[in-house]
Amino acid sequence: MILILDASTQTQSAEYRQLMAHLAGLQGVQARVHTELGAEQSLTEIYLIGNTKSLDIEDMQSLPCVERVVRVSQEYRILGRHKDDSRPAYFDYNGVRFGQDTLNVFAGLCAVDSAEHVEIMLRALRDNGQVCTRMGAYKPRTSPYAFQGHGKNCLPYVFELAGKYGIKVIAMEITHESHLHEIGEALHQTGNPTGVMLQIGTRNTQNFELLKIVGRQQRFPVLLKRGFGITLDESLNAAEYLASEGNRNVVFGLRGMKTNMGDPHRNLVDFAHVPVVKRLTRMPVCVDPSHSVGTRAASPDGILDIMHVTAQGVLAGANMVLVDFHPAPPQALVDGPQALLLKELPHFLEDVQVAREAYLKRV
Ligand code: PEP
Repeated sequence: MILILDASTQTQSAEYRQLMAHLAGLQGVQARVHTELGAEQSLTEIYLIGNTKSLDIEDMQSLPCVERVVRVSQEYRILGRHKDDSRPAYFDYNGVRFGQDTLNVFAGLCAVDSAEHVEIMLRALRDNGQVCTRMGAYKPRTSPYAFQGHGKNCLPYVFELAGKYGIKVIAMEITHESHLHEIGEALHQTGNPTGVMLQIGTRNTQNFELLKIVGRQQRFPVLLKRGFGITLDESLNAAEYLASEGNRNVVFGLRGMKTNMGDPHRNLVDFAHVPVVKRLTRMPVCVDPSHSVGTRAASPDGILDIMHVTAQGVLAGANMVLVDFHPAPPQALVDGPQALLLKELPHFLEDVQVAREAYLKRV
């Protein structure tokens, strides 16, 4: 039997020593401190793994420094759903709530190409009541000769413009530890006008060293995309890497799978897995219709496939939609052919709302 004590900064306190003495008195128990969060945290969560039936949970819960005791399975220990689990299934970041009951749209540029396009995009979002966006500064590309993103050079104007247009959270992919520092530095230099959700892309889902580094910081929440060629279990374990290092503010992103079977879309859309991820874990689930479909193809009813699959994801209970728009898709430096037009934004948002209301009626 193992007890994992999570998130205590009270390792030196009398209360904490009392807890450890209590645990040491229990037969057959191995206890280890799992994670320490920042100094402002004082919560001790105890995760019980294995055959823990003989433990008196109430007794443990009555200790002053214990916030809650959770019996967990081996799988997805921190992010997973467990019986009688009273931990909150949401997190708040920069005034925006992310949970399995909420829905946030992140429309924006796949890749930042110019300050002018960033400003046009953000103004359109503001005019349509949006407070979140996606902006790619670091782009992992298949070809080394393709545009790799403007990197840290674009961060100051992206953040300043986000502040100007009331954007609270920008989803931004990082591929290296240095990008995390560059984002922190640029936010500081521009006076923290906005928030950032770090995105780990499908090519880095199992970059465990990057996951550990991103997991060790709690300043930014994380959007982890499912790996496009690995099992769902492997991708959920990748999310658990973030949480096991201390960062539980994780959104799980579905973005389609590679099948090499001649699919009509760039990837096989996997949005039927939205309820599965919600059943297995407490993470909010994001769908990325743009990278799943990869084209502006439309069905005979005139509706773009991207809009159809967005609605499917939202109807299945998705909590976040990440979608590419561009003020002038032919000029886009990355993924122009899948970008929606700004004039389509109001209709897109309306369609999301219709699907959301239909979902809420069904539950
Ligand atoms: C992206 O969102 O810009 C992206 C590259 O996504 P993915 O990692 O899903 O390919």
